[in-house]
Amino acid sequence: MEASVTPYPVIQKTVAEREGANLGNYEQAASAFDWNVARALLDGLTGGGLNIAFEAVDRHVLHGRGGKAALRWIGRDGAATTYTYEDLRQATNRFASLLASLGVRPGETVFGLMGREPQLYVAALGTLKAGAVFSPLFSAFGPEPIRTRMEIGDARVLITTERLYRRKVATWHTEIPGLRHVLLLGGDDLPEGCLSLEPALARSSPEFQTVATRPQDTALIHFTSGTTGRPKGAVHVHEAVVAHNITGRVALDLHEDDVFWCTADPGWVTGTSYGIISPLTNGCTMIVDHEEFDAERWYRILQDQAVTVWYTAPTAIRMLMKTGAEVAAKYDLSKLRFLSSVGEPLNPEAVVWSKETFGRPFHDNWWQTETGGIMIANYAAMDVKPGSMGRPLPGIEAAVVERTESGVRVIETPDEEGELALRAGWPSMMRAYLNEPERYAKCFRQGWYLTDDLVRRDADGYFWFVGRADDVIKSAGHLIGPFEVESALMEHPAVAEAGVIGIPDPIAGEVVKAFVTLNSGFEGDEVLQRELIGHARKRLGPAVAPRAIAFRANLPKTRSGKIMRRLLKARELGLSEGDISTLESDEKK
Ligand code: AMP
Repeated sequence: MEASVTPYPVIQKTVAEREGANLGNYEQAASAFDWNVARALLDGLTGGGLNIAFEAVDRHVLHGRGGKAALRWIGRDGAATTYTYEDLRQATNRFASLLASLGVRPGETVFGLMGREPQLYVAALGTLKAGAVFSPLFSAFGPEPIRTRMEIGDARVLITTERLYRRKVATWHTEIPGLRHVLLLGGDDLPEGCLSLEPALARSSPEFQTVATRPQDTALIHFTSGTTGRPKGAVHVHEAVVAHNITGRVALDLHEDDVFWCTADPGWVTGTSYGIISPLTNGCTMIVDHEEFDAERWYRILQDQAVTVWYTAPTAIRMLMKTGAEVAAKYDLSKLRFLSSVGEPLNPEAVVWSKETFGRPFHDNWWQTETGGIMIANYAAMDVKPGSMGRPLPGIEAAVVERTESGVRVIETPDEEGELALRAGWPSMMRAYLNEPERYAKCFRQGWYLTDDLVRRDADGYFWFVGRADDVIKSAGHLIGPFEVESALMEHPAVAEAGVIGIPDPIAGEVVKAFVTLNSGFEGDEVLQRELIGHARKRLGPAVAPRAIAFRANLPKTRSGKIMRRLLKARELGLSEGDISTLESDEKK
């Protein structure tokens, strides 16, 4: 198989890798796929009910696997605490019992605002058992984004820590009309109007009859940001568990004996779908690290916990690359079997680097908050084209389309750019944007869900990410994806990260400008500017290469690590910065 878009050679899988994989032959699996078969992998509740938490926890206990480690939590000091499936069953029952005793009714929303404490995982699953709706908030959010989301989501209960409560919630707590209970972890001095979580849980019953939710009942609300407007609350239902389960098996190659580490925070959709639900429904042991990224700590966890499947993000991978392969070499990572990445474009060098460093490539996959689960992936048994997101999950119909006045036109020609569209109807598809039916309806045309992402599909059916629909640059009639330019720049040894935007040009319409941060040991001077432009022209051709390069100490990024090109552009052009509530790191810092 020839790589049609990347100069990087295809990474071929060995016979052993193919044989051990859950998904052996992609074509066969895709053509034979049936969602009813995926449904049958779960138990369900009597009478046609379905509950995510029951499938994640209790089912394993009923099948005699209660003694197996479900969650291994790594505390600040590096020590691990293990919770078996039976421990989780009881703990989540206590949480559900507590909600019931507080009068929380099925369908009401419980918000979680907490770092990666075991109690957060218990709360998420316990909420679902009680038939209530769980909505995770990223604990590093400031007061404003927290409040906005709790208002939109009509919060009934908040579970947080005493510290976070005092810093971010206390001043406006009473102004959220429907917020009846605030449950606090830790702290000796309980603020007024709050309940101390641990003693309340200790008083609650470890037995609870899981509420018989229906497949279409709301389970989770995940907030996401659009280009404009307030955050959108994407509504997901219990039936999503069918997709969480099967995509974990197929795209992450989860087996029951795997030790799985998803490094994403449950404040984001990846940290819930694949940092809680998918590994548990698949009966794995999942690792949760309380702390933030630290290269040596991460390698030590991979080694000491004998992690077999690792799901992380490109920013982290690039930070590991920056730290150097020699640091990785100090650790025994021989248990690692499958490496996967999501959330932003994974540059091909990162894939090649991981193959060289870990003996295995990172497998990129693609999805978004609205899809609830992985939609496009590289599979354990499928050859990897570095830089490609892979191929649609069995059961998912993906197309490259162009929006037309009357609907969409499906682009069949290989390698032609267009918007990624998914045939609506998979189980984890969002069912609404909270209170915004029009915004929701705008996502669909002629039965397709439109993703706002630009992609192309090559002749072998592999999808390649080009950029967000709103980030793309049109220069001298050429449609230029900033990601492509950034990737080329990042191949240069001086470049750590790059953000590329289009700036207005009287002749070409727009020309490309790049903002880059440098690896240590490089000087951002005119000589390097010229060298980088030369490198990009050579790699991409003069029509696509940046005309200008600016050096920055940092690039503005969202809390989930995405470079905010929109902000780079606004600042470059002196425009309003718009909604910057998700801004985490900033060039101005
Ligand atoms: P979120 O809803 O915050 O998870 O962000 C989803 C968006 O992240 C997608 O629409 C893409 O723009 C981007 N994204 C996610 N995964 C990938 C990937 N593998 N490659 C490129 N972009 C990605």
